[in-house]
Amino acid sequence: MRALAITPCQAHTARLVELPMPRLEDVPSGRGVLVKILQVGMDGTDKELCLGQYGTAPPGFDFLVIGHESFGRVEEVGPKVTELKPGDYVVATVRRPGGSMYDAIGTCDMTSDETCYERGINLLHGFATEYYVDDADYIVKVPAGLKHVGVLLEPMSIAEKGIHQAYEIQRRLKVWRPRKAAVMGAGPIGLLAALVLRLSGLEVWVFARSLRPNRKADLSQVIGANYVSTGGLPLEQIAKAHGPFDLIFEATGVSPIVFEAAHLLAMNGVLIMSSVTGGNKTVELKSDRLNLEFVLGNKVMFGTVNAHRGYFEQGVADFARAEAEYHGWLSALLSHPVRGLENYEDVLRILFEEKQATKAYLVVNEK
Ligand code: BGC
Ligand code: ZN
Repeated sequence: MRALAITPCQAHTARLVELPMPRLEDVPSGRGVLVKILQVGMDGTDKELCLGQYGTAPPGFDFLVIGHESFGRVEEVGPKVTELKPGDYVVATVRRPGGSMYDAIGTCDMTSDETCYERGINLLHGFATEYYVDDADYIVKVPAGLKHVGVLLEPMSIAEKGIHQAYEIQRRLKVWRPRKAAVMGAGPIGLLAALVLRLSGLEVWVFARSLRPNRKADLSQVIGANYVSTGGLPLEQIAKAHGPFDLIFEATGVSPIVFEAAHLLAMNGVLIMSSVTGGNKTVELKSDRLNLEFVLGNKVMFGTVNAHRGYFEQGVADFARAEAEYHGWLSALLSHPVRGLENYEDVLRILFEEKQATKAYLVVNEK
């Protein structure tokens, strides 16, 4: 079968490779699930993989099959799988357990191992291919009524985890009633974070570079979030009038923004850092001021990566709520489909060039 691969640490090496068809027996416990890939989403991590800034090939390979945002249909299940059956629509989680105690309790997204195993990113092949086999433990069912938005579930899991972790951290306050949130960046993660925050009843401000009118501004408006264009001007200058914010979700992919956004936090506020930045940007900080604001305001900023299956399940629940409350909004995020694995160059071009694309994805199989 065909698969879309790159050579890690080298720029612009995307190509199709041949892989053997996976078999249920590849999972020896009897818990194997064979899935036919329908769609694969692309994101900033794929961009960094294609630029050679991130990623590692599996042992014994000089290439890595990319694609970690999967959506597919179950073809066959092993004898010990009772929770899934052929015909079910599914999404696979990305990370596989390592050796730490966090991995042992089903939270490999919090691993303390230095090396992590992530399908389509690090040491494991991904889903930009025709079929995969994996353990049912890592496969999450998507109800048929949500199959049209299933490919958004992996990015949704990232937004869910970041926000859930923020609430967990804020339990330090005994009572926390966030009212105002800011989302930095209107890419898929930013918009999905805005959705989750709106579903929780917060007032949401989305800050992004593009001038309005534009699609991302329109999408923000549909869910009742305020879109503010920074037009590339200093964030603090633009955002000050709308803040301060109890919660800030940073998802621009541009690390200096984190430290500009930190000045916009309210007393006791929390800032979620979710951008994976494989580059080597450096920036000068107003360190005394930032430090003082955090100390005197009991503020927190923290990083979040990946998501375990609980966050995927929460994502499914919130997709159902979103379809009930903002019907059609999730489908509108799916802006740039590209049909056929062989047309991977088109999907990568969109990923790199189309600023208003909210999701570029490959339709590997129509059904
Ligand atoms: C993926 C995560 C992954 C992270 C770091 C993100 O794009 O969605 O699952 O943990 O990259 O590799
Ligand atoms: Zn991702």
